[in-house]
Amino acid sequence: MNEKFLIIGLDGLDWKLFNKFSSEGLFNKCSKEIEQGFKSRLDTTIPSITPVALPSFMTGLTPLKIKDGYVSGQKRVKDFSQIPHETFWEYNDIKSCIVNLRCTYKPRELNGKLVAGDLYTPSEKSDYTYPKELKSKVKGFHDKLDNREYRKSVEKCTSILKKDTQEKLKVFRNLILNEDFDISLFWDGNMDLLFHYRWGKWNEIREYIEMIDDKIHSIYRKTKAKNIILLSDHGFDRKHQYDFHLNTWLKKKSYLKMKGLFKLDYLNSLIYKLGIKHKKLGRILNKITSTNKKKEENDFAFSRRYPGVDYNKTLAQAPKGFWGIELNWKKLEKDEYEKIRSKIIGELEKVKHKGKRVFKDIWTSEELYGVSTYEKNVPDLFFVNHPNYRCVPPAGKKLVSKTAEGNPKTKGGHENSPCATFIAQGDDIKSKNFKNKFNIYDIAPTLLHYFGVSIPKNMDGKVRKGIFKKNSKAYQRKITYSEEKEKERIKNLVKDLKF
Ligand SMILES: [Zn+2]
Repeated sequence: MNEKFLIIGLDGLDWKLFNKFSSEGLFNKCSKEIEQGFKSRLDTTIPSITPVALPSFMTGLTPLKIKDGYVSGQKRVKDFSQIPHETFWEYNDIKSCIVNLRCTYKPRELNGKLVAGDLYTPSEKSDYTYPKELKSKVKGFHDKLDNREYRKSVEKCTSILKKDTQEKLKVFRNLILNEDFDISLFWDGNMDLLFHYRWGKWNEIREYIEMIDDKIHSIYRKTKAKNIILLSDHGFDRKHQYDFHLNTWLKKKSYLKMKGLFKLDYLNSLIYKLGIKHKKLGRILNKITSTNKKKEENDFAFSRRYPGVDYNKTLAQAPKGFWGIELNWKKLEKDEYEKIRSKIIGELEKVKHKGKRVFKDIWTSEELYGVSTYEKNVPDLFFVNHPNYRCVPPAGKKLVSKTAEGNPKTKGGHENSPCATFIAQGDDIKSKNFKNKFNIYDIAPTLLHYFGVSIPKNMDGKVRKGIFKKNSKAYQRKITYSEEKEKERIKNLVKDLKF
């Protein structure tokens, strides 16, 4: 109770969809409050997916800096307790209650309470709370993970998710009404599942939103929170219809070269097809074909290797396909590197299928995240496709094909939807819409500033003072900066590892 900030995450609530729904009178209860507040499109990370967006939201860092993360290390960090970065609620021990936030499993110590969200929590049996004893009070919170019934019967999906969210909100409400917190946060991951599985079933989606609007509004009133934020981590769209084979395109343009038998296009296509159909076989094939001597591996500037690629002659490749291209900077002087990068961007802009551009927006790392990625094994250019397309990595023969991957039951997707939603309202929030670019990693430093914490110098996000009322302390206070705090956590981690 008496929160300075009540934060509600609505996973996947697209900015355009939010505006459409609220003009129809949905979000009616929260809207009455929101009208006096502040609304903005929120630019999320590229790729626009939860395991990338949420770590940036929590830490104020761009995905380039999340250690061994999805962008920087080409893998998902599934263990929150091992991430060597502070989250906004961990600075100065801001007393917090964090419930159902995705990417917070395994929980780690905080001044307050935490119930980890569904994305990486394996099952109801896992230890998903901090403190550990809290689990007995929230028993059954992750029951849904053990049967996943919403996947089996899409007709029942909405009612299952609705019921689950209601129960989770009840747990949240009970936790925060009995204690005073500075920040209370609830993340609704079910909204994302609903858009994935029930895209186009607008009446069901409306029904769900009405429920959540009602519950949030009543919690907001009851807690007497000073300020409230509603936000999402990415947008949403209809699921893509076509795969665009990006490495094939790079090969056709001579940026990527194959060696030996792999020059035969059909062999590559076959490996890819087999890999998709038989996951195990795919993994084995991948292992056989990509094992290289360690030394050789170090000679290339790529974060990831594909079977049959001649890395001695390759200048660019798409490591995971759907959001970026890496250049072989070890073989390129900086000016050459920049020239080739611009050339690729120019060529991608011209790629068309059925008369439409396949690549909607393309950025250099400087344009997107403000830093050059030259000499780093991360993508050097980033993009989103037109929502009809998703880029895939094979370097075979075909350039475009009907989509091969994915669950046929899902109708919505968000790999190309970086427009998320940000809404704030309350005693300290001014009632104007924000016109400047507002990024998901700006939220952490803005909250820290509100709580009078110095912003660590290595934080990428900016304090957005413009959301605060002119007469508020947060607006009047000078922004201060401090040396990075990460080292401390790393030191602690090392200490923990010593027996
Ligand atoms: Zn999703």
